[in-house]
Amino acid sequence: MHQGRHFLQIPGPSPVPDRILRAMDMPVIDHRSAEFAALGRAVLEGSQKVFQTRGPVVIFPSSGTGAWEAAIVNTLSPGDKVLMVETGHFATLWRQMAGRFGIEVDFMPGDWRRGADPIQIEARLAADTAHSIKAVMVVHNETSTGATSRISDIRAAIDRTSHPALLMVDTISSLGSVDYRHDEWKVDVSVSCSQKGFMLPPGLGFNAISEKARAASRTNRMPRSYFDWEEMLKPNAKGFFPYTPATNLLYGLREAIAMLLEEGLDNVFARHQRLAAATRAAVNQWGLEVLCQEPSEFSPVLTAVMMPPGHDADQFRKVVLDNFNMSLGAGLSKVAGKVFRIGHLGECNELTLLGALTGVEMGLSVAGVPHRPGGVEAAMRLLEQRDQRNASSY
Ligand code: PLP
Repeated sequence: MHQGRHFLQIPGPSPVPDRILRAMDMPVIDHRSAEFAALGRAVLEGSQKVFQTRGPVVIFPSSGTGAWEAAIVNTLSPGDKVLMVETGHFATLWRQMAGRFGIEVDFMPGDWRRGADPIQIEARLAADTAHSIKAVMVVHNETSTGATSRISDIRAAIDRTSHPALLMVDTISSLGSVDYRHDEWKVDVSVSCSQKGFMLPPGLGFNAISEKARAASRTNRMPRSYFDWEEMLKPNAKGFFPYTPATNLLYGLREAIAMLLEEGLDNVFARHQRLAAATRAAVNQWGLEVLCQEPSEFSPVLTAVMMPPGHDADQFRKVVLDNFNMSLGAGLSKVAGKVFRIGHLGECNELTLLGALTGVEMGLSVAGVPHRPGGVEAAMRLLEQRDQRNASSY
């Protein structure tokens, strides 16, 4: 039996702040009423600010996987060719889904220790002189590895080739935590969901849509119904949905957007960088290895830590859960048992993080995992500085 609040330190779902829980604790209202339309308009407009876009954002009652599907079925046709990059487990799942829709995927292999390489993408597109590649599809923050791809560099690489492919980006575990600019980076479809940077329970899926993507949706040949953008956009213009919306999650979303904007998106992004840097300082002091090998791609949202040989990450996570009431993220598929993931996103601050790192450090001792003590101390020293310039150099 555990006392006190459970530490949910997985990289999503992230803990739901009390303020959001209270905002959702409302009677369900008539979704055809003027009162609902005001809520609908507020969340649709507010979401645009978080995606940093002036274009439409649609919100489906779905998980992130549903929003992945919406991106595919609204833009591509069976037999189309797309370029994807094996950044990790989630890129692999999105690729599988594309395959099920009859899309031919050129899946550039990766070692799960870095983000998508803009130079390789540029080379593939430059070689495609017939422009048979219809879309480049990348996961921004690969939640299975803790590597964040450089979308602005990928955009620049695409532009250098003058290739007309759509750019579709999974921002599921980055939006609202990591700087992300849908318009400035000319992303065509940004895919996201509610349970990560938005700090909401699972249940909402998002697509931010460029004009080019919307034009593609008018001519593509993929059957769709529930996820059809136009069906959604028509009633959205007046704040309504084409079917029963997830009303109470939308109350929560309105509050989440208010929280993000009150803090200021730049401050939110800097906070995540600072917490991630402190986490890496702890991991380095423990003498353990961060899975991501490319410092410019270290994730601000989570840190995947490699277990020393002969030690099982899942056994370690069980020790931490049983003894200290904290959930850490599991290693997924290829890295199952080999890594554990520390989530530091959403409603996370210095003291929450230090509590989490303390649980990890104690867990390493209890589980008999060889390590140097002092990781928490190293994180404390870094967080005391409260100086982002220092944090970014870690
Ligand atoms: N893409 C990424 C990067 C994710 O982290 C996840 C879930 O963790 C998904 C897609 C799938 O989202 P969902 O589980 O909400 O369907």
